[in-house]
Amino acid sequence: MGLDYLEVANQNGINHHSCGAPVVLADGLNGKDNILVKIKKGSVLKEVAIATLIHDVSAMVVLSHCKGHINAGYAGAIKNLAMGGISSEHRMHGWKKGRGCIHTFGEGIITWTKDKCTYCEQCVNVCPLGIIEFKGKKWAYIMNECWRCGRCTRVCPEKALHLPQNDEYFQKGLAEGAGAVLSTFKKKKVIYINFLLDIQPECDCMPVADVPLFQDQGILISDDMVAIEQASVDILRKARFIPDSMAGDRKVKKGEDVLKKLHGKEKGYSL
Ligand code: SF4
Ligand code: SF4
Repeated sequence: MGLDYLEVANQNGINHHSCGAPVVLADGLNGKDNILVKIKKGSVLKEVAIATLIHDVSAMVVLSHCKGHINAGYAGAIKNLAMGGISSEHRMHGWKKGRGCIHTFGEGIITWTKDKCTYCEQCVNVCPLGIIEFKGKKWAYIMNECWRCGRCTRVCPEKALHLPQNDEYFQKGLAEGAGAVLSTFKKKKVIYINFLLDIQPECDCMPVADVPLFQDQGILISDDMVAIEQASVDILRKARFIPDSMAGDRKVKKGEDVLKKLHGKEKGYSL
């Protein structure tokens, strides 16, 4: 929850002393401080809870760490805006108006396959809310409190957990969520800085740091979100992967698009 995030930031040297400015959580300490924004012509999202501070400020600098992503293939500024600008959950409407509405749909119920489970408890340890436990030999979670973040399903090495997901839905949700966040700003009031450094195969929400896929590629800046994302993807498409990285392990061939190949996104990215 919020205080934990602040503590992690502090442990990594990000605090008001080092920044010379307050370090705050845009959706409050409980992840419920937000304002509902309607999405006109949304194909998968209709209304989302935008973090109050992001909704209320007049200008924003979006700092994004570029990396791979299981659902989107590539994750940069668009994903950062959608996931970072939308609150964890809405006070009245829960995860269905929070960022969980991008990760899943319907009731987003997690199912567990007993025969596959080895009781390693990785899912228990990774849940940000601590709502997973084993009752005897039976997996259980508090469904009403679940954010539908999908971390437990992602870390399960046996694929014993399942959350209803669809890549196309997720990618459209990211685009529409990012659009909703931007709709709270006037034109030319947001700039983007993309860091193509320590480029990980997986999303930063995963509790592991892998060998970077590529050598550091640099830092990009633009006032055009689509342009900076396209430039970042183009750079990564041309970059040579590090042989000891996941790309080497999975035997990606020279000239292949590494992020597409690793995440099975031959049909495309979220751009
Ligand atoms: S999806 Fe899994 S990890 Fe995320 S909050 Fe729900 S139970 Fe916890
Ligand atoms: S991570 Fe998967 S295998 Fe491990 S305890 Fe959880 S459900 Fe079972």
